[in-house]
Parts: sequence; C-alpha cells; structure tokens
Amino acid sequence: MLSIRNLSKTYSGGVRALRDVSLDIAPGMFGLLGPNGAGKSTFMKILATLLDPDTGTATLDGLDLIADKDATRRLLGYLPQEFGVYPKMSAVDMLNHLAVMKGITKRGERKEIVEGLLHQTNLWEVRKKALGGYSGGMKQRFGIAQALLANPKLIIVDEPTAGLDPAERNRFLNLLSSIGRNVVVILSTHIVEDVLELCSRMAIMSSGQLILEGAPAQAVDCVKGKVWSKVVSTDTERDTVEKSFHVISAHMVAGLNELRIYSETAPGDGFAQAEADLEDVYFFNLTRHQRN
Ligand code: ADP
Repeated sequence: MLSIRNLSKTYSGGVRALRDVSLDIAPGMFGLLGPNGAGKSTFMKILATLLDPDTGTATLDGLDLIADKDATRRLLGYLPQEFGVYPKMSAVDMLNHLAVMKGITKRGERKEIVEGLLHQTNLWEVRKKALGGYSGGMKQRFGIAQALLANPKLIIVDEPTAGLDPAERNRFLNLLSSIGRNVVVILSTHIVEDVLELCSRMAIMSSGQLILEGAPAQAVDCVKGKVWSKVVSTDTERDTVEKSFHVISAHMVAGLNELRIYSETAPGDGFAQAEADLEDVYFFNLTRHQRN
C-alpha cells in the first residue's frame, strides 16, 4: 500500500502546485485525472524522488519515499511525459545499459530480462533499430520496458498517451494493463477514457487539491440521472442556459453545439436526460470546484 499524507509544494515563483494532498493507493492501476496545471506532474515527481515536497510524507509498505531516495529508486519504474532517448542507440543496447545501471550485472540474467521485456512490449522485431527512428508509440513502449527493469513495486506513468495515434494508444494501454497486479501503478492523464478503460480506482486533481477519489463506476453512479443535454443554436441561448444552470460541458455534435448540465431535478426547458459517463463526473467535479 502506498500511503501519502499532507503533501504540499509551492514553487519558488509562488505557485502552490500541491495543497495538503492525502491518499492511499493499493496495488493495481490507479488513475490520476486533472487538467493541465492541476499539479499531477509535481505529485508524480515527488513520488519518483525527483522533487522534494515542502511538507508531507509518502510511504510504500513502510519505506519512506521522500527520505530514502536510493532505496526508492531501486523499486521504482518511472515513465515521464517526454521520454528522452539516446537517438543513435538501439533498444536492446539501451536496455542492457540501463539494466547494468539498475544493478542487474549478471550477463545471463540480464539477457533473459531484456529479451523478455522486448517481447512483452512488442519491440522484439525493432530491437536493433536506432531509438531516434522510433514512432511516438514505440518510444512509449520502450519507456515501459525500461520502467519494468528490475521488477519495480511502484510504477509511475505521467501522461503517457498524449500524442499517440489511436492504434498506438490501444497497444500502449493493453501493455499497461498487463503489468502485474501486485504492483502499484499510477497513471496521470487528462484523458478520461484512459482511466475508464484501465483503472479500478481514480482521483481527480484540480489546482493542487484532490477533489474526488473512488472507483470510476461508483463515481458515475453518483451523477446518474442528473445529467441533461440540449442543443443550443445561438450564443444568446447558450448564455441563458449558463446563467440558469450548472453547465458541465459543451460539445460540438455533428456541427451543433450541445450543452450538458448537472441538475438534481428535471430542468424542463427542452433538456433531455443524458446517459452519464466518466467524462460527466470529471467535468462536473472540475466545474463545481471552480464555481466554489
Ligand atoms: P500538471 O502535471 O497537472 O499539468 P504540474 O504539476 O506540471 O501540473 O504544474 C502545477 C503548477 O505548478 C502549474 O501552475 C505549473 O505552471 C507550476 N509549475 C510546475 N513546475 C514548475 C516549476 N519548476 N517552477 C514553477 N512553477 C512550476
């Protein structure tokens, strides 16, 4: 169990990136959702020993992740947003090199681990190709391969699917979901579907605070029957809706502007009940937080 208590971080410019964040995360896939600037990367960097918080603690089965950085790094797999690679090196050479750095010094054992990871991440065929020539999806899968070296107990994946095309994204998500059940995997993203498809638990972060935590399906149950939609054709009509109701999102549907609102009772006024989904949960909680 990963146990996080009262984490706060203010950057030197005065930005309060994390405000008293407390959270328990059990093994399995945990989704951290939030818009850009919410504080997700700051949170992930602290857990990955790359940044110190101002206050607060994080422990994994008794290990202090903030104080004991060397021990933490040995059980950590980290895949940052932009995974930098040495462009001229091949995947197999790079993995071998990283494996040595991680302390896997026995040649036979290293070969077995590296070859296993190349198969698991579907990079076997391109293992000798220079990493600089990899597509975005291949780079991310390589990122997972390196994060899995040395059997991590905590895997941190920061915004992994941004910039991937749908096929690459699918492959990547399938790979993530195949990672062992005994490992804590934290996936930060602003893409709601990533969480819906993969995670049994999730939290939503906004302006450095956790504003919701729970199971995606239960969170959707909380807004079921309270989401309504209507197509508006003019800006005036839109303004009227915004003044009278809690608008949670606006979408273009076949060229028409559809507004979704949250209302515990039937709003009338041409609204139809909509089938609530995780995106409604996300936007409802974000807009409610901004309104307060
Ligand atoms: P997210 O990952 O959710 O987009 P971040 O943790 O990157 O959020 O950023 C949270 C806030 O902290 C933002 O307002 C961002 O501009 C600010 N921030 C991030 N890194 C730094 C830094 N090194 N120095 C100053 N401000 C920063």
